[in-house]
Order: sequence, then C-alpha cells, then structure tokens
Amino acid sequence: MGREITVNPVVDLENVTFSYGEMVAVRDVSLTIEKGEFLGLVGPNGSGKTTLLHLMLGLHSPDSGSISLFGEPVEEFDGGERIGYVSQQSTNRGGTMPVTVREAVTMGRFAHAGRSRLTKADREIVDESLETVGIADLADRRINQLSGGQKQRAYIARAVASEAELLALDEPTVGVDAESRDAFYRLLDGLNESGITIILIEHDIGVVTDRANRIACINTELFHHGDTESFVESDALEQAYGKTGQVVHHHH
Ligand code: ADP
Ligand code: MG
Repeated sequence: MGREITVNPVVDLENVTFSYGEMVAVRDVSLTIEKGEFLGLVGPNGSGKTTLLHLMLGLHSPDSGSISLFGEPVEEFDGGERIGYVSQQSTNRGGTMPVTVREAVTMGRFAHAGRSRLTKADREIVDESLETVGIADLADRRINQLSGGQKQRAYIARAVASEAELLALDEPTVGVDAESRDAFYRLLDGLNESGITIILIEHDIGVVTDRANRIACINTELFHHGDTESFVESDALEQAYGKTGQVVHHHH
C-alpha cells in the first residue's frame, strides 16, 4: 500500500490556468494528490491558494487545463458527500443560523441518508463524530456562540460525520489560540492516519512542514510540489515569496 507505488489520485490537475477578468490567479499548474496524502498548500497572500483549492473542488472552472476529482472530470463529479470543506474564515463568520452543534453535524449525514428521516445509525455516527473531535459536551450549544477553535471543530465533526474521504481546510486556525491550534493539528494527524486525505492551506510554514507529508508552494505558478523534506531543502519558499517582494517595493 506504499504511496510511492499506488496510483490512486484523489485530485488531479493538468496545466490548469484560471483568471479573474484580466488577472491570472493560477497559471499552468499540474499536480496530483494521492489518496492518504496530507498536502500543505503554501504561498504568500494573494498567491492563488484559495483559488487553486476552489478549482480542485469544482467551485471555479478553469480557463484551460483539466481537473479530476476521485477519477472523474470535476465538472461531472457529484460525490459532494465525499468531501469536507472548511472555507477560509468560515470559523470567523460563524454562521448566523442559530443551529446547535449537533444539528450542524447532523447535516453532514443528510448526504448519506437520501431520505427524510435519519436512522439510529446516522445518529450514532453523529455522536461518534462529536466524540472524535472532542466537542461532545458542546453538542447542544449554538454554533454562533462558540469560540473560533470550537467552531472549527464543529465543522470538522460535520465532515467526519459525512464520512468524507477528502478534507480541505483553508487557513482553519486563523483567530484560534495556540493551545487549540495544537490540539486541532493533532486531530488532523489522527484523521489522516485513519486514511482521510487532507489538503491544508496554512500561512504558518512551520506547522505545514511539521504536519504535512507533501507540500505544494505556489505564487500564481507552482514553485514546488513534492515531499516535505525536499521542500525544506529547496529554495522554493524564497522564490515564491521573493516574487511578491518584488511586486511590493515601497519600503525605501
Ligand atoms: P490566497 O488564497 O493565496 O490569498 P486568492 O486565491 O484568494 O489567494 O487570490 C489570488 C488572487 O486573485 C489575488 O490577487 C486576489 O486579489 C485575486 N482574487 C481572488 N478572488 C477574486 C475575485 N473573486 N475577483 C477578483 N479577483 C480575485
Ligand atoms: Mg486564501
């Protein structure tokens, strides 16, 4: 089952380019994410990380190039329940809907239920998911009354309840205290060890190199994609961030 010999792409991008109007946000990116990977996606602010993730999940259509998800062209993919997505700042926005944590996590089961009522088994999975992420005690609290770290766990619990195979997280720890962050990253490690593929956008490079086993470093173009060790040894980081340094040059 070694990742080196298994060819089982969860996400596959070939020569993907995407622009907002005239502005190219992602240029000619090709990369493959294998099942079971923990990919850290890094790059400076405005480097196209969120856009690239949206492309991977079919939330934007590329101008050119092709994208597949779980082996299907992304534009035909309809297995949304296989993906858990925590969007950028979703924990800050918090949702204005006055639903409880249990209700929010239960929504993760609807995709599977395919019927109007949840079964006892569905309810058990919801309870287990709350336990897994350590928020069983918050089940009856309203989501919009939780702290950033607690909210983020609720979103992860919803993804766990949906039995997502791919978890995509866009800067999930912005506004979360250091202690909760550590606990959160341990939780991600555990989920990854249980076989869930993870894509993590994170501005703290140290966190990414500690946790991820693969790194993609972008600044519109892909500067590096490979295992974490080769990333640390490369100058991809300086190159990708240096490019922005040239664009922003008003300190003198
Ligand atoms: P990152 O997530 O790395 O900060 P983004 O993918 O959000 O980067 O943005 C990449 C570039 O595209 C930035 O220059 C940003 O200003 C621009 N951009 C992002 N979203 C939009 C949008 N909806 N319309 C126009 N430009 C956008
Ligand atoms: Mg972003």
